[in-house]
Amino acid sequence: MKYRAPKGTFDLVYPDSEKANWLVRSACEVMALYGYERIITPIIESADLFRRGIGDDSDIVTKEMYSFEDQGGESLTLRPEGTAPVARAFIERGLASRGLPQKLYYAGPMFRRERPQAGRFRQFFQVGAEAIGSVDPFIDAEIIAISDHLFKRLGLSGYTLFLNNVGCGECRPKYMSRLSEFLGAVIPALCGECQRRASLNPLRVLDCKNGSCRRAVADAPTMGSYLCGRCRENFDAVMMSLDRLSITFEIDERMVRGLDYYTGTAFEFQFEGLGAQNTVSAGGRYDYLIEQLGGPPTPGVGYSLGVERLVMALDAQGLDPCERLRLDLFIAGAPGVDRDRLLDILARAREEGISADTDVMGRGLKAQMKQADRMRARLVLIIGPDELERGEVTVRDLDASEQWQIPVEMVIEKVIDFLKRIMGSNQNMRFVTDK
Ligand SMILES: [Zn+2]
Ligand SMILES: [Zn+2]
Repeated sequence: MKYRAPKGTFDLVYPDSEKANWLVRSACEVMALYGYERIITPIIESADLFRRGIGDDSDIVTKEMYSFEDQGGESLTLRPEGTAPVARAFIERGLASRGLPQKLYYAGPMFRRERPQAGRFRQFFQVGAEAIGSVDPFIDAEIIAISDHLFKRLGLSGYTLFLNNVGCGECRPKYMSRLSEFLGAVIPALCGECQRRASLNPLRVLDCKNGSCRRAVADAPTMGSYLCGRCRENFDAVMMSLDRLSITFEIDERMVRGLDYYTGTAFEFQFEGLGAQNTVSAGGRYDYLIEQLGGPPTPGVGYSLGVERLVMALDAQGLDPCERLRLDLFIAGAPGVDRDRLLDILARAREEGISADTDVMGRGLKAQMKQADRMRARLVLIIGPDELERGEVTVRDLDASEQWQIPVEMVIEKVIDFLKRIMGSNQNMRFVTDK
């Protein structure tokens, strides 16, 4: 093979491509249900946006960004995450003037040059939402609720929501200096990278997966006891809101999230049975990000969800939400049939919102039935020249292995009747009823 997809990337083909597509659509539907509107930002941004937004010292900026100079000498980066671009667009497009809050959602590929492993790719697909302009703790709970809503809608279980509050500009520096002090005393036990980070970015040390580092920080002070009154109050209010929404959670005072811009609420949804990459959705508050990027002081909170990991979670739980996503109708023609009439029926079926297809390979009836099977067709219409003469066609129900004759002029109505009848147990059909 001469050409291969670049390392850490992959092609999605049917049925995985349909599954991913369907999941993205479901996630977008849930976000629309919560009053969020789509925003589409470029895949390329200036490298500086991420340096400033995510933090110079973050793993993403130091090792994982795909940055390059284009032919005009402009320094560009394939976006590694979605929040900084949305914040940039919010400022640049003056979205604040349209009224706050701005509730925006996005869906698209992100790029990080990480070591590829199960659940970690160099190009991955994220959906996410940002609620910009409000400090109401309810909006934090709402952002969290979106993922929970989606998981429940997909029939998923076996996940835990971990919640923390990482403090604000007032209380966080106090905690950081206390943490630096603590780390200073255990420095010989830390890995090389953490020794460097201990003073620069002490929070990251708490995130290190190195065994020796984990042991060394086991007794490190946690943010909880340093929260200021306002952060404490917010944290309590977010928990109360989650309770009222019947969303269960666990407090994890060690969860700091990898990006510099987080303040206040931070959260992660982790799934059982996914190995090391078990965080499917995560996010938090970023009340200083927009100001840091040159906008007016504006609070925000958001989340992002990895679609590949969501697929892993569904697979791990044996769920296939699009199992029933199949073709409604395959139209098979027997030898000698008037093809124009067959194609007329095909066109009418599609006009009526029935997903339908037919043979374009000049195959015999048996091979056409095979194709209908491959496309997981629900019904097959078999049209023969003698039947057409009599004004009849045969409809075969592939699931029930039954077939019956119907008058050709009523074929579309009969198919619609049938599809409507089985809709109740079959919510994921492509058949569109609400036209
Ligand atoms: Zn605070
Ligand atoms: Zn370490």
